[in-house]
Amino acid sequence: MLLGAIADDLTGATDLALMLSREGMRTVQTVGVPPEDFDIGDAEAVVVALKSRTNPAAEAVDMSLAALEWLKASGARQVIFKYCSTFDSTAKGNIGPVTDALVAALGTDLTIVCPAFPANRRTVYKGHLFVGDQLLSDSPMRHHPLTPMTVSSLVRLMAAQTDLKVGLVGHDTVVRGADAIRNAFAEARKRGEGVVVVDAISDQDLRAIGEAVAEFPLITGGSGIALGLPDNFRRQGLLPEAGTGGAFKPPAGSGAILAGSCSEATRGQIRQAIEAGLPALKLDPIAIAEGRLTVDEALRWALSQTENIPLLYSSAEPQDVLAAQKSLGQEKAGDIVEKFLAKTATGLRQGGVRRLIVAGGETSGAVVGALAPAALYIGPEIDPGVPWTVTLGDEEPMALALKSGNFGAPDFFLKAWETLK
Ligand code: ADP
Repeated sequence: MLLGAIADDLTGATDLALMLSREGMRTVQTVGVPPEDFDIGDAEAVVVALKSRTNPAAEAVDMSLAALEWLKASGARQVIFKYCSTFDSTAKGNIGPVTDALVAALGTDLTIVCPAFPANRRTVYKGHLFVGDQLLSDSPMRHHPLTPMTVSSLVRLMAAQTDLKVGLVGHDTVVRGADAIRNAFAEARKRGEGVVVVDAISDQDLRAIGEAVAEFPLITGGSGIALGLPDNFRRQGLLPEAGTGGAFKPPAGSGAILAGSCSEATRGQIRQAIEAGLPALKLDPIAIAEGRLTVDEALRWALSQTENIPLLYSSAEPQDVLAAQKSLGQEKAGDIVEKFLAKTATGLRQGGVRRLIVAGGETSGAVVGALAPAALYIGPEIDPGVPWTVTLGDEEPMALALKSGNFGAPDFFLKAWETLK
């Protein structure tokens, strides 16, 4: 392993893993800290996905240190602490305490803060974080239910959370390239700063920053900060030019689709799949609650579809979702569907299904929870943001594509299988 990362949530981890995979590193994403002797195969980058974003700082520190210990024991040469590109943190802030703990554990004297992700319109200028055209504190993030962000100055946000002295490397320096940035780091060290916010408004900036932090044991930021790191390993001759081609080996076996997302995009994908002739079974939460539809029945139906890939979906139009919520309660309606799909996923695996598409963020969380893979090897991207993955550490590996509701083109459920060929 060359690069190890600690991500504070699951979808953020996937984002980073995809970035590293696209930049040519064989990348594995784990779900939590894996067992000590877990075999990561030929992975060059490993992203440990925690669920620590909104935990109290002391808990987030403990979880992050456990992840660091595992990464170090597995040979990571450089570590990224990945948080959200909107710097989501609670009022008590745990990005600072986690950074302090990682700095101490790695025995380093300087790290950076750079949540910029220009491709997603997150930029940092004069130390202020922008979301699109707005300052973070003017963006909808100020109303986030768990982590409302009312300050945009990363220097101020960080200074309130860390014991380290906080500095800034401005964009006027960053545009002059890696050498100028390295000089600014040397100046920061002389001033006794332990962490510097670094401006970045373009991918070019991120690549220059990446080059300048080649020797840093610890880097903190959003997924964007990973953009320039693989090239450092290439310059050192540790990473081949060629990229990840050929390393991804999906298991043979039949496929299935489980959809719990009610988003417009997913509903469109379902319509197109049905029109193209995929056999489909609609899962009605009220029928499930009343015992008129059981997991066993759904499985019998799905496993009898030998001609084509079966699609099981609870996805419904907004008025039907409202009706189900009215009858069952909002939380219970979601819960019933998630549990049903999660159980169906394990049943499909038992029935020999080895390739599974899951649509919906919460739905994917429930299915991954039930299938409980220790880690996922990141494979080719089907559509932006949605890769095929293969479970690691399982006797019977499965190919999984976990799709956020809104992601993917209308023919996603049809074309995804081509990517496996
Ligand atoms: P997305 O990524 O589109 O937000 P999620 O899976 O995160 O999709 O969220 C969809 C939620 O809606 C899940 O909790 C799911 O259980 C619930 N749900 C799915 N189908 C129905 C339905 N027919 N009625 C009520 N709730 C539903």
